[in-house]
Amino acid sequence: MRRTGIFLAASFVTALALFFWYINNFTPIGEQYLQDENFTLRAEWKQLEEHIAHANHNLDELINQDDHNYRVILDLQPLSPNERYAGTGGAKPDYFDDVQQYSLIASTFKRFEKLKHQLDVEQQSYEELSKTADRKLAMWASRPAIQPIDNKDLTRLHTIFGMRFHPLLGYVRPHKGLDFTAPHGTPVYATGDGRVDNSYYSSSYGNVIYLNHGFGFETRYAHLSKYIVQPGDKVKRGQIIGYVGNTGTSVSDHLHYEVLFQGEHINPINFFQRDLSNQEYEKLIVQGEKEIISLD
Ligand SMILES: [Zn+2]
Repeated sequence: MRRTGIFLAASFVTALALFFWYINNFTPIGEQYLQDENFTLRAEWKQLEEHIAHANHNLDELINQDDHNYRVILDLQPLSPNERYAGTGGAKPDYFDDVQQYSLIASTFKRFEKLKHQLDVEQQSYEELSKTADRKLAMWASRPAIQPIDNKDLTRLHTIFGMRFHPLLGYVRPHKGLDFTAPHGTPVYATGDGRVDNSYYSSSYGNVIYLNHGFGFETRYAHLSKYIVQPGDKVKRGQIIGYVGNTGTSVSDHLHYEVLFQGEHINPINFFQRDLSNQEYEKLIVQGEKEIISLD
């Protein structure tokens, strides 16, 4: 009996010793799970922080391009800091109070909200840039920016614009365009994208084409031997619309070319200098100042 008592006591002491040894050397299973989860969450959080930093960097690049490149090219004012950053401390979602007690998550959350707002602003800005670019492209394509006659076909350019002696009418009156001398049948080009307002025969202009380019611009092509476009037709810059002739009140084969802006005649020479070198352009200006008689 006494031996049994000793045995039980020894067993109890051994079990107690084993219990404390286990407690000291092994974390309880539940706590171990939480530690693992915490470790994973911290790793994920760190990754999230890196993603946000990366996105912020890319966004800064976009903002820089937007303000200092695209907006400069398109004649738009850069967005003010107020427009870019206003509202970043705005309304918070419901779960904000829950996350705010964890300072680590709260700071990430704030950075994320700021990034989201800036992205929204930037997206709107790029939409504005895209619309402006489309409008400017259409405007540039419509502008009467080339010569209506190829330089290789041009015999002479009468650059007189203003008062001059009319060779057939016999008196001085305004000459509202330029005269391009070229062989009969030389192709005549639309100088910008547009629509044909009219093409017909008139006793003064002869065979004439009226183009409307939008954005306030119109052009006229007179004394043609023939026109090959009809009212309502759409034309592209550089498209052949007719051929040089000597119809109407004209003394020889040539194209009489007019440019109008908002209903007023303007000197076409200011529009097609792209085809000429600076010297050629200067020469034409000087020559135009000397001329006193036009061809129509
Ligand atoms: Zn003329």
